[in-house]
Amino acid sequence: MIPAPLPRQFPDRAALIDHVRMISGDEGDASPITATDLNAALNALDPAGYGKTRNFLNGKVTRLSAYIRHGMVSLNHVRNLALARVSRKADAEKLVQELGWREFWRKVQAQHPDWIWTDVEAYKTGFTAADYTDDLPDDIAAAETGVAAIDDIITRLKTDGYLHNHLRMYLASYVVHWRQVKWQAGARFMLSHLIDADLASNNLSWQWIASTYSSKPYIFNLENMQKYCGSLITTSAQHNAPLDASYEELSARLFPHKQEF
Ligand SMILES: Cc1cc2nc3c(=O)[nH]c(=O)nc-3n(C[C@H](O)[C@H](O)[C@H](O)COP(=O)(O)OP(=O)(O)OC[C@H]3O[C@@H](n4cnc5c(N)ncnc54)[C@H](O)[C@@H]3O)c2cc1C
Repeated sequence: MIPAPLPRQFPDRAALIDHVRMISGDEGDASPITATDLNAALNALDPAGYGKTRNFLNGKVTRLSAYIRHGMVSLNHVRNLALARVSRKADAEKLVQELGWREFWRKVQAQHPDWIWTDVEAYKTGFTAADYTDDLPDDIAAAETGVAAIDDIITRLKTDGYLHNHLRMYLASYVVHWRQVKWQAGARFMLSHLIDADLASNNLSWQWIASTYSSKPYIFNLENMQKYCGSLITTSAQHNAPLDASYEELSARLFPHKQEF
């Protein structure tokens, strides 16, 4: 028997939730997380602005990841739209490159499925994998680390199901390098909250930050956060002491056994 097609139109979100409850038999609560509107996100696509501002928390990022992840829009479609929006191809270069990263991680996953959960290489931090904790500490899961910027990021992740790329990098770096937790534990935590959760982009990015799939660990400092986040998260020195140092100081503190930086 051919199953009846699933309805695609609902008067509102409540009707959609009722329908999912009916067909799944699951009476649980729906996630409070909702995606932004796909058409609005496509209309707002500004490739040139993206190239100039994408690293800033209030920069012109696309917020398309959930739609791409769930197959509602293809990478090709976004690339073609980006190229059509600019008069000089170079103005769309940065956005097209980032779309390329997603495709690249997917291809790596297809060729090396075992790299998704196992270290591709050893850590280049002066520590071995055995020096890192297996489980995510409770204070990180609860957004109660006491480092205000990090707690703000974790709260955003849990509330919005979305993080700007820079915030993902900061959080991953804090978990692995400040707290010495295995990247796998952090990756699992992030995946459990992201509406764009994607094994390839997520886990291979965590490995890149950890240095098990890159030549050196990624770290940041408070000055970098202040530059890119402004006042959108709490970046006062008083509330972020562990992050408030130069890169040289942090490298020496976080990686005391590493020979060269
Ligand atoms: C630790 C970590 C975990 C991540 N986990 C995920 C994940 O689970 N799912 C996911 O889709 N992306 C992940 N990313 C990649 C990137 O952060 C998100 O794709 C991006 O922030 C989504 O927001 P956006 O759509 O506004 O991106 P934009 O900056 O507007 O980029 C447009 C699109 O390009 C792609 N893209 C942009 N940057 C990257 C990147 N660095 N790697 C791969 N694709 C990219 C995405 O499809 C994105 O939607 C992760 C990055 C890091 C550092």
